[in-house]
Amino acid sequence: MQNHPENTTAEASGNLEQRIQGNPGRFRVLTGDSPTGRLHLGHYFGTLQNRVRLQDLGVESFVLVADYQVLTDRNVAEDLASSVEGLVLDYLAVGIDSDRTTIFTHSAIAALNQLLLPFLSLVSVAELGRNPTVKDEIAHSRQSAVSGLMFTYPVHQAADILFCKANLVPVGQDQLPHLEVTRTIARRFNSRYAPEAGIFPEPEAMLSAAPSLLGTDGGKMSKSRGNAVALADDADETARLLRGAKTDSIRHITYEPATRPEVSSLVLLAALCTGRDPHEVAEEIGAGGAGVLKKTATEAVNEHLAPIRARRNAYAQERGFIRNILKVGNERANAVAEMTLGEVRTAMKTSY
Ligand code: ATP
Ligand code: MG
Repeated sequence: MQNHPENTTAEASGNLEQRIQGNPGRFRVLTGDSPTGRLHLGHYFGTLQNRVRLQDLGVESFVLVADYQVLTDRNVAEDLASSVEGLVLDYLAVGIDSDRTTIFTHSAIAALNQLLLPFLSLVSVAELGRNPTVKDEIAHSRQSAVSGLMFTYPVHQAADILFCKANLVPVGQDQLPHLEVTRTIARRFNSRYAPEAGIFPEPEAMLSAAPSLLGTDGGKMSKSRGNAVALADDADETARLLRGAKTDSIRHITYEPATRPEVSSLVLLAALCTGRDPHEVAEEIGAGGAGVLKKTATEAVNEHLAPIRARRNAYAQERGFIRNILKVGNERANAVAEMTLGEVRTAMKTSY
C-alpha cells in the first residue's frame, strides 16, 4: 500500500515508520539542499535529523548538493565552491556519514541531468504554473523575470529523486508539491514506456515534527531570506538573532501554532532541542513572556548545537577530506545514474 505525501496524519506516518523499521532494506532515500547558504535550524529539525536517523537504521541514502538549483533565483552563484564545502561540513557535523551515505553534486552527474528531457515532456506548462512553492519562490526571487530554470525546477527535482529510484524523501512541508510532481512523472513514465514492470517508484514524503520552522521575521526560515539561525553560527550570534525574533502582543506564552505561529515556533524550537513537549514548555514560561521565551530558546539551541558546532569546526580543518567525499560520491552517483539512463533508453527504444 502506498501513502500519498499529502496524507500526513499521525496514522499515515506511524504506518510508514512501521514499514521502514520492519524492512529498512526496501527503502532508498534521496534528499538534498541547494548551496545558497549555510544550513539552518529549519533544515536540522525539518529534514537533517530524519536523514541521519534513516541512515542509522540502515536505509541506503543519497544526499544531493543541488548546485544547478542555485541559479533558479539569481544570475550568478556567488562563491559557490565555499557554499558547497560548507554544506558538506554541515552534513558531517550533524552525523551524515560519507561511508554510508552517498553525498554528491548535481552538476557532476551527466546522466541524471539527461533524464530531464523525457521528464519535461510528461508535464504540462499549466501543471508547472500551479505549483504553490514555485509561486512563493518567484515572489521572493532576486530576479525581475522568471527564468525557465525556476519554472521547471520541480522537474529537475524529479530527476534528482528518480535517477537513483529513491522511494522515500525526508523533507519540509514546502517540498510536498514538488514531490507530487515527481510522483506524477514516475507514474506517467511507467505507464507510457514501461507499463508492465515500471521503472520508477512513486516516492513517499517523510515529514518531521517541525515541517516548517519559522525564521526570525515570522516567515519560513530560509537560507536566502536573511531570517535564519545557521547551524554554524556561534552562541552569541544565536542569542542576538533570537533576541530579534518576531513575537506577538500577547504577554502570556502559549503553544498555539494555528493562531500564534511566531511564538509557537520558538516554543517548538526549545521543545525540540530539549526533547520535551511544547505545551509543557509553554506552560512553564507562561507569564514570563517573550523575554523568557527567547532566553529559553537560545539556551536550548546553544546547548543542543554545541557538539554539532564543535564537530563542524574540526572538519573545517580538513578541506582535502571534504573534496574527496564529493569525488567518491560523484563517482558512485554517476554509476547509478548511468544504469538508470540505460533502462530509460531501453524503455524509450532509444538505445542505438
Ligand atoms: P532557499 O532559501 O535557498 O530556498 P531553504 O532554506 O528553503 O533555501 P532548501 O535548500 O530549499 O532550503 O531546502 C532543503 C530542505 O530543507 C528541503 O527538504 C526543505 O523542505 C527543508 N527546509 C527548508 N527550510 C525549512 C524550514 N524552515 N522548516 C522545515 N524544513 C525546511
Ligand atoms: Mg527552499
